[in-house]
Amino acid sequence: MHEVVNNGNSPSKRPFVFYAIVALLIIMLLNALVFPSLMERSVIEVGYDQFLEMIDSDQVKEVAYDEYGGEFVFIAEDDGRPGLYKTGIWPDDGQRLLQQLMEHPDIQFSASIPTQASPLMSFILTWVLPILFFFIIGEIFYRWMRKKMNNQVPGGMGNAISFGKSGAKVYVADAKTGVKFDNVAGQDEAKETLMEVVDFLHEPEKYADIGAKLPKGVLLVGPPGTGKTLLAKAVAGEAGVPFFSISGSEFVEMFVGMGAAKVRDLFKQANEKAPCIVFIDEIDAIGQKRNTGGVGGNDEREQTLNQLLAEMDGFDGRKGVVLLAATNRPESLDPALLRPGRFDRRVPVELPDLQGRKAILRVHSKEVHISDNIDWDMIARATAGASGAELANIVNEAALRAVREGRKFVIQEDLEESVETVIAGAQRKNAVISDNEKKIVSYHEIGHALVAAMQSHSAPVTKITIIPRTSGALGYTMQVDEGEHMLMTRKEILNKIATLTGGRSAEEMIFGKDNMTTGASNDIEQATKLARALITRYGMTDEFDMVALETVQNQYLGGDASLACAADTASRIDARVVEIVKEAHEKARKILEENEDKLHELAQYLLEKETITGEEFMEMLNRKEKIQ
Ligand code: ADP
Ligand code: ZN
Repeated sequence: MHEVVNNGNSPSKRPFVFYAIVALLIIMLLNALVFPSLMERSVIEVGYDQFLEMIDSDQVKEVAYDEYGGEFVFIAEDDGRPGLYKTGIWPDDGQRLLQQLMEHPDIQFSASIPTQASPLMSFILTWVLPILFFFIIGEIFYRWMRKKMNNQVPGGMGNAISFGKSGAKVYVADAKTGVKFDNVAGQDEAKETLMEVVDFLHEPEKYADIGAKLPKGVLLVGPPGTGKTLLAKAVAGEAGVPFFSISGSEFVEMFVGMGAAKVRDLFKQANEKAPCIVFIDEIDAIGQKRNTGGVGGNDEREQTLNQLLAEMDGFDGRKGVVLLAATNRPESLDPALLRPGRFDRRVPVELPDLQGRKAILRVHSKEVHISDNIDWDMIARATAGASGAELANIVNEAALRAVREGRKFVIQEDLEESVETVIAGAQRKNAVISDNEKKIVSYHEIGHALVAAMQSHSAPVTKITIIPRTSGALGYTMQVDEGEHMLMTRKEILNKIATLTGGRSAEEMIFGKDNMTTGASNDIEQATKLARALITRYGMTDEFDMVALETVQNQYLGGDASLACAADTASRIDARVVEIVKEAHEKARKILEENEDKLHELAQYLLEKETITGEEFMEMLNRKEKIQ
């Protein structure tokens, strides 16, 4: 574990202090070597005889005796120009000098004649001017650097002179114009979680009184365009607090230490404006796992991440600074970021299902003039897998088309056309699932759910969806155990393996063995792991009894297991694993065959709705049973 937290010696200050010291040294050097000659008015040293001669020839105007130096300083005119002279005196010659001076009553005697420029002048010359000079040079240099950096990092630094400033755009939420939760369609689960944050920002005392600490950081996880930024803005809008937004990539600067300085500055600003929301988009740009190997690490990024961690630990959660961050690659984040007290809450923001898409289309259709008889259902159906941003784009494209056609409002045809343009673009990115794939995924997921429901010892199904997940899965059947459940019985493990094979079983049954898909790869992996663990770790087979056949290396870091048995035993274990999975697969197939009509009915229903809840599922299942 290496978690370097550098709070005190701020790297960004280094350049400034460094430059200041260098400038000071240069000024002192100049003062010592160059300026003295400038400062001293040039004094011409002459011999004593010449001095007397000059008095005789009426050149001398003013004389002063410098006791300290034991010499005379005098102003004399040579060729009509007054100059400053000095001369030593022979002590025994005072008489002669006095006589000469008396002969020339027009010569003035002064207490002293300054041989140096005035103190004020010298101060200005030696200190003010050089400092001004360096200041101007520095200013020009900063401007030049900023220009250079703006070219390298587009939109990098905001527009004020903010060298080392975070450039976080400050949106001060206005109660009227701020984004509200109503602007975010669908995403009910995310909204529910974030509601708590809003409540906290409204009444921090309520939480402080009890001593409750709200999570400092909430991580919004989901594919691009699903409304993560929108949700963050809505939290700020609902709470009526300022909204700071910055993208993770903006932190990664070309100079080491700049990113960390930006983080520090961002938090400083946020602390001043608390309560407020700080939103960091694309946090994976700085939050990636740090290099433990040492070679090829990105110093700058690690420093920035360390600073972020330090700031998160440093700020007082009760003050009301809430950090929201967005990513679509949560698995790439450094574990230190996800620890308690940091981004310890995760809110999934998935692609919208049919209802969600309809709602999003409606929200955005309010922004354009649109005909009353639009078949939203049809548009929503045609856009399975599209993100909120793509749906917003569809509505906008439709409006553009209406303008091109010279109409004052959008009609159905515009929408249908723009679905094709936008979706065609999206299909290249593999974002949208074809109807055929949707059908396969529906049967697959209902296969899991049915097998689970028809076995007495398996966790109830809580949600089935055929909306692609962030994880890459095309569909998803969620089972949640009722209550705490730490121990698993042998029966439960076997049932779970059967449930895992249920997806593929359904595919085989409905589409034929030749048309089975790769969609079951994760199921296969899990089923195999479970079957193997049942033999080697849980000692649940007669053949091997309670013998530990493998050891778990590190329970907390992924739990890699390695076999600890003879090669012969290993191959027997493999054979037994295959047996267990085959049995489970057979069982799943049988269950589905016995319930084929339910499989069809439920899969059709899922295909239509895209997401169904556990209750809906059970209701359909039971209703059907009663009719039979
Ligand atoms: P993300 O931050 O997840 O990449 P954004 O929040 O930037 O996505 O979404 C981009 C745009 O897409 C939003 O400004 C909004 O117009 C539209 N949008 C996305 N999701 C939704 C939604 N759930 N409801 C309404 N509009 C949405
Ligand atoms: Zn599956």
